[in-house]
Amino acid sequence: MADQSFVTLATNDSYVKGALVLGSSLRNYRTTRRLTVLITPHVSDPMRKVLEKVFDEVKLVDVLDSGDVAHLALLKRPELGVTLTKLHCWGLTEYSKCVFMDADTMVLSNIDELFEREELSAAPDPGWPDCFNSGVFVYRPSIETFNQLLQLATEKGSFDGGDQGLLNTFFSNWATADISKHLPFIYNLSSISIYSYLPAFKAQTSPSSDRFGTNAKVVHFLGRLKPWNYTYDSKAKSVKDAQDPTVVHPEFLNMWWDSFVTNVLPLLQQHGAIKDTATGVKAEEAAEAVSNLSLSSTALPHSPPSPPPMSSEERKERWEQGQADYMGADSFDNIKKKLDAYLQ
Ligand code: UDP
Ligand code: MN
Repeated sequence: MADQSFVTLATNDSYVKGALVLGSSLRNYRTTRRLTVLITPHVSDPMRKVLEKVFDEVKLVDVLDSGDVAHLALLKRPELGVTLTKLHCWGLTEYSKCVFMDADTMVLSNIDELFEREELSAAPDPGWPDCFNSGVFVYRPSIETFNQLLQLATEKGSFDGGDQGLLNTFFSNWATADISKHLPFIYNLSSISIYSYLPAFKAQTSPSSDRFGTNAKVVHFLGRLKPWNYTYDSKAKSVKDAQDPTVVHPEFLNMWWDSFVTNVLPLLQQHGAIKDTATGVKAEEAAEAVSNLSLSSTALPHSPPSPPPMSSEERKERWEQGQADYMGADSFDNIKKKLDAYLQ
């Protein structure tokens, strides 16, 4: 299967950590396809060496060097930098078919069967299911498609400022045309869906197994906080802040970290990519900011009237029952505001 490949992208050393966990997870489940990672010049040399250990091909892409159309697109739409870089996956014409996966995904089983699907196959986005989520998709490399996508980016931009908006505009009949291009949710299971549909998710776990979410094939750590932003206690085999609503069920985060510590950390140490066993990025504080999120929303502007205060335990219970207060205390806006305030 030398003409088919899994493809991911990392434009900096933080996302390289994600790419390495993804790559090792694909290897651990014995994929028969090739592994390709696209990188940009910001990725450091030691990290490139480590990537070469896990991936068959490490391809340097630079939008500015990649021909007139790409150059023009970027000059007109500088905000689409990373998005345009992701489009380079269509330039891998040595392959007849590829599966693109975000660097913040990891596989929990062999998923080679995805290569039986056609362009463009993807799973519904949990936030807007008439759109597909662009974290995992099957596609056919083609310079023609690449140029058409760049042209669309230049002329129209992207409705969400990222690749997902652009790709959904380009493959606009995805929602209605061909159901075989709808991948089941388990190929792109985002943390968001786990919390929104927790009862369904729990019901999926087979009674004979105590493992959480046994049917999931790909987990996607979509959103602002990535696994590498947490602090991991390797003795306890657990991320530190379990109060954080997004880590009410830290099982997948812990799996990511377990894979990082077992498969990736030794390579990083061997190649001098990190100085000690520290993870490099510490956003313990950011995680804390989420966990300390105020229960009452009165202090935050533009919020609906505050509900009666609720204890942390009570609130956790509600999350677990799928009854998050999405319009109030648990609204994305509130979480974002708190994080923004904290990060400033
Ligand atoms: N990416 C990257 N560098 C960045 C941002 C994104 O390499 O600074 C790549 C990476 O592969 C990442 C993908 O683009 O997984 C999409 O971004 P992200 O996963 O952060 O978006 P989300 O899935 O949270 O919407
Ligand atoms: Mn992602």
